[in-house]
Amino acid sequence: MLNYFKTIGQVSWALCKGLGVTLRHMFSPALTVQYPYEKVPPADRFRGALAFHPDLCICCEMCTRACPSQCITMESLRNEQTKRKELIWYRIDFSRCHFCALCEESCPTKNKSIHHTSEYELTFNSRKDFVVEWTPKDPQPSGAAPGQVWTRFLSRGQKIGPSPEVVAATTPSAPTA
Ligand code: SF4
Ligand code: SF4
Repeated sequence: MLNYFKTIGQVSWALCKGLGVTLRHMFSPALTVQYPYEKVPPADRFRGALAFHPDLCICCEMCTRACPSQCITMESLRNEQTKRKELIWYRIDFSRCHFCALCEESCPTKNKSIHHTSEYELTFNSRKDFVVEWTPKDPQPSGAAPGQVWTRFLSRGQKIGPSPEVVAATTPSAPTA
């Protein structure tokens, strides 16, 4: 008999605890956003798409050696007049990258030549799109200063559809003849 009432007490307590969580969330502000028209900013240490800055890179190849997935390849040539290496091309195969940041950590330049950004909307239409290449001649997007955060993904000009308000305003509610 005692066990019977003990079980009823435990179940009632568990039920109250569960309902307490529900009640707490009922009165807190909603976290839902209308993605992709509204976006929640990623956390400060979020590791998004890699950005590379040909203007800052000193071609030391530390990043290619640090990368455990071997997804970074590059070619450079030593300039005999300046005694410095000059970048020819730099490639990242994003199909192999697992966003570990080891390349960023190993990069010795003061402003990192390679670093993660907060860009997470990565879409690829084919396998070859995964391989992103930079060369020193690549134009920076207009208004971008050397070292400014930007990615090749942004420069692809990914587009989202019209906002729900525009869709609602332009979609006839009844079929037209
Ligand atoms: S984030 Fe990691 S896996 Fe991706 S390129 Fe850098 S070192 Fe390689
Ligand atoms: S570690 Fe930095 S400076 Fe060295 S090659 Fe890689 S991106 Fe360039």
